[in-house]
Amino acid sequence: MSKIAIIGAGAVGATIAYASMIRGVAKQIALYDVNRAKVDAEVLDLNHGLQFVPMATLEGSDDIGVCAGADVVVITAGAKQKPGQTRMELAGANVELCRTLVPQLLKVAPNALLLVVTNPVDVLTYVVQKLSGLPTRRVFGSGTVLDSSRFRFLLARHLDVAVQNVHALIAGEHGDSELPLWSTATVGGVPLLQLALPGRAPLTEEDRAHIFDNVRNAAYHIIRGKGATNYAIGLATAQILEAVLHDEQRVLPVSSRLEGYLGIQDVCLSVPSIVNRMGVESVLELPLNDTEREGLRRSADTIRNTIRTLGF
Ligand code: NAD
Repeated sequence: MSKIAIIGAGAVGATIAYASMIRGVAKQIALYDVNRAKVDAEVLDLNHGLQFVPMATLEGSDDIGVCAGADVVVITAGAKQKPGQTRMELAGANVELCRTLVPQLLKVAPNALLLVVTNPVDVLTYVVQKLSGLPTRRVFGSGTVLDSSRFRFLLARHLDVAVQNVHALIAGEHGDSELPLWSTATVGGVPLLQLALPGRAPLTEEDRAHIFDNVRNAAYHIIRGKGATNYAIGLATAQILEAVLHDEQRVLPVSSRLEGYLGIQDVCLSVPSIVNRMGVESVLELPLNDTEREGLRRSADTIRNTIRTLGF
């Protein structure tokens, strides 16, 4: 039996439940939200679709007890970006939420892995790890899994190849200081920067700048249009949950605490990591060029500065 508990039944939490349900990620899905009417309505609506998906049970409550015995707890509760607001501006309010939430979670689901999605996700992953005292591998954030899928989508569309054949990563902060790793990106095994596809548009420096700009500003754009981002983060989180619950050893750019990674210390950010039933088992050392290495360090400094201003 596997159980996931999702904290927060808002746009993101409810969509993670929906995506997980469709993909048959877990036998039991629980949603917890302080807004009773909202969580009841979401769970009722989801339950009405149970007939069409792999066998599972779904329950929801404003009582944290609904999370009891979860294998993984996904944290999505809290303030979200208003149009034009950065993720880092949410830090203060969402840290306070974690201070009350984490001890409650440790009580009802003492063996769970904690997967943080609430923003600023890197800062909160660090804070949740500190507050919980759990081993670093058991606390991680969705990080740049979403940003990397945005990146791969845009590259695939530009080059007119299947997104599954584009391997390219966004590393660092899930936020404004993130960076695209052009030097390690490949298409069908060919380094992206050497790729020449007959009859297809080349990838100029201007195209690259434009694509990365679209990745970095995607959330701002979507939030202006519909108030929240939910589908892609729902699917991305479902894939992270699968990697854990199916013990896949999948390599994903999740956010976890780094100690001495390319000289980076005491901060959470995203680099490719092996994810399995134990959480983040190890991180892969990237063969970065000097500019990328410097960019990753700068991103680490940005996140660490916010962590320090919050008193952690
Ligand atoms: P939302 O406002 O729709 O939902 C938040 C929910 O949290 C609400 O239903 C609210 O009642 C609930 N809540 C508040 N305090 C709570 C508490 N103490 N315990 C339980 N529930 C509580 O927001 P959303 O659009 O679902 O976004 C949620 C978070 O996810 C935001 O911080 C957003 O920035 C973040 N997010 C992260 C990513 C990512 O890639 N990491 C992507 C999208 C959104």
